[in-house]
Amino acid sequence: MRMKTKLIHGGIDGDEHTGAVSVPIYQVSTYKQEAVGKHKGYEYSRTGNPTRAALEALIAEVEGGVRGFAFASGMAAISTIVTMFNKGDHFIVGDDVYGGTYRVMTRVFERFGIEVSYVNTSDLVKVREAIKENTKAIYLESPTNPLLSITDINAVSLIAKPLGLTLIVDNTFLTPYWQNPLELGADIVLHSATKYIGGHSDVVAGLVVVNDEKLGEELHFVQNSIGAVLGPQDSWLLIRGLKTLAIRMEETEENTKQIVDFLVNRKDIVKVFYPGLVSHPGHEIQMKQSRGHGGMISFDVGSADRADQVLSKIKYFTLAESLGAVESLISVPARMTHASIPIERRRELGIVDGLVRISVGIEDVRDLIEDLQQALEV
Ligand SMILES: *Cc1c(COP(=O)(O)O)cnc(C)c1O
Repeated sequence: MRMKTKLIHGGIDGDEHTGAVSVPIYQVSTYKQEAVGKHKGYEYSRTGNPTRAALEALIAEVEGGVRGFAFASGMAAISTIVTMFNKGDHFIVGDDVYGGTYRVMTRVFERFGIEVSYVNTSDLVKVREAIKENTKAIYLESPTNPLLSITDINAVSLIAKPLGLTLIVDNTFLTPYWQNPLELGADIVLHSATKYIGGHSDVVAGLVVVNDEKLGEELHFVQNSIGAVLGPQDSWLLIRGLKTLAIRMEETEENTKQIVDFLVNRKDIVKVFYPGLVSHPGHEIQMKQSRGHGGMISFDVGSADRADQVLSKIKYFTLAESLGAVESLISVPARMTHASIPIERRRELGIVDGLVRISVGIEDVRDLIEDLQQALEV
């Protein structure tokens, strides 16, 4: 089965009892047992629910892994993965990962004795140098937010494997439609399904896929113990989201390329960040490990005032955090998603005050370009 077909027919297709074409929403917490311990595979919905199970089978197939897991949010997924490790274990984490990931590692898990080094994972020398005797995992994103830095996932997996380190990749920005980290050597891939997989700004969820049965058993144990599972209604929404992921990602890609073309040809834009640009650092690695570049563009309009002008005049891009939905969104990272990072650190990372980030939706691209044009006019 090819990807587009898999998204529609993968996992558990419909309902064999009734012929329903869509997987039913099993709004149920517990299941009747015929005798003690004698049941049809479900005992209690924290441990397993048929709607969630259909989603989990689907995402496992789509990411090319052996087992999938659905969580109440991307952060619930990340936190549950970290609890598979022990006090005293050391993590190497990308230095510009999602802000919530940085927050949970520093303010929650460090309190429980997890040690973390934040490293620019695009630099393989720095990754190697950060490895300590107690290092157990490497955690990264590619591309990152908001500057869309690229890490060579396969090269990092070749560092991790001989040392028995678990490689964890947050694949939210490209989705399984464009990039499959497990095939590049990762052990665990995760998504904030709140973004492209849900795709309609109407559900908060997380998904994880592993490539090994034993790892799957361990993750199921902690997921069931902690209990941050996704409910049946939201599981159903993600199954529905996955069915249109291919066409949404294709349309987003096309719109994004045209907007990038528009932006790079304007003299009043200082810089455009987009992994599909030949001039983008890591572009060659990106071409090797992904089939598309996603719908995120960051561009520097030169100053905070200029950024304010764009935000106040723009009409079709909604001013909001988040990304990956059918509607285009716009934000200013320095004062929104990355506001909690100290200013010196922001400068070091290159998150300047004039940086504007857009998540391109699937509106008519002519309207989006006309809108940007009028918003940029002085
Ligand atoms: C949004 C996001 C998360 C967190 O996911 P939630 O669903 O908001 O909990 C993690 N990683 C990335 C890259 C994200 O964009």
